Amino acid sequence: MSVLFLFDIDDTLLTVDSSKIRLYKNGEMIRLSTEEFRDWRSQGKTDGYATSFEEFNDPEFAIPAMETARPAPGFDILKEIISGESDIIVGILTARSSEEYVIYEGLIAFFNKQGVTADIDPSLVFAVNNSKYKKWKSKNDSEKKLSIILLLLKENMFDHIFLVDDDPMHKKIIDEYCQKRDISTIDVISV
Ligand SMILES: [Mg+2]
Repeated sequence: MSVLFLFDIDDTLLTVDSSKIRLYKNGEMIRLSTEEFRDWRSQGKTDGYATSFEEFNDPEFAIPAMETARPAPGFDILKEIISGESDIIVGILTARSSEEYVIYEGLIAFFNKQGVTADIDPSLVFAVNNSKYKKWKSKNDSEKKLSIILLLLKENMFDHIFLVDDDPMHKKIIDEYCQKRDISTIDVISV
């Protein structure tokens, strides 16, 4: 049986302090940390704002910001998986909008800094708000993450996929979808 663990990045594997998410409304801009953004959104406070991850996109800033990030709770799960004998495969599933190679290189820099050797296949790094997924632009981030998972299952590459994610909204939406359709091959682990 082939098992894939997909890890969210921000506040799951690591927390970046230097980059903030920008929210725009009526010509005004506010900047929120990834944690603040997650909590605002779960309370519906981000409704009506246009959001931008531009501070996470420029590789000149994004890669060093990830290198110097603080480990977040999901990092312990990742370390446990890669230190075991298991054949579990690890990938990344984030709502960031940057090019996926930026995320990959930033993560490798972060892992090196943390003294961890993690073998991640660059083709299993998904940034669902990247323009390459613009066909999904009417979906919310939870639905976009679910779409990637369903695609991977449809391709029969994996028998079971776990998503490790700090955002309770993703768990709620994906769990509801799976319960309704009796899907037992997807699990969301909250951190
Ligand atoms: Mg997150």
